[in-house]
Amino acid sequence: MKKSNKFPCKCKVCGIGEIEEMYDVCPYCGWEEDVSQEEDGNCIYGPNKMSLNQYKQFWEENKECILKTLKENPFIWMELSQDYYEKYFKKINEKQIALEENEN
Ligand SMILES: [Zn+2]
Repeated sequence: MKKSNKFPCKCKVCGIGEIEEMYDVCPYCGWEEDVSQEEDGNCIYGPNKMSLNQYKQFWEENKECILKTLKENPFIWMELSQDYYEKYFKKINEKQIALEENEN
């Protein structure tokens, strides 16, 4: 049986943001609530370009900066996570997607 999250709940990435419903975006770290990506921490298919594990890594490295800047720029994570994705995971994730598309 597929587990579903109970709402409201804490954000699975930062543990700070309050998530009210499915597909809510965390106001602190920018993670979008998604059951399949949260059940499989390595799943890259979903509303988030990065998997849960990748996003956690992003958050760990950027949380200080994000929490400090959030008041002036509530969407600071948007820019930072895009940069982080392009720098570390874009190539790996796109390769994986391409491989799986070739198999079908
Ligand atoms: Zn969060």
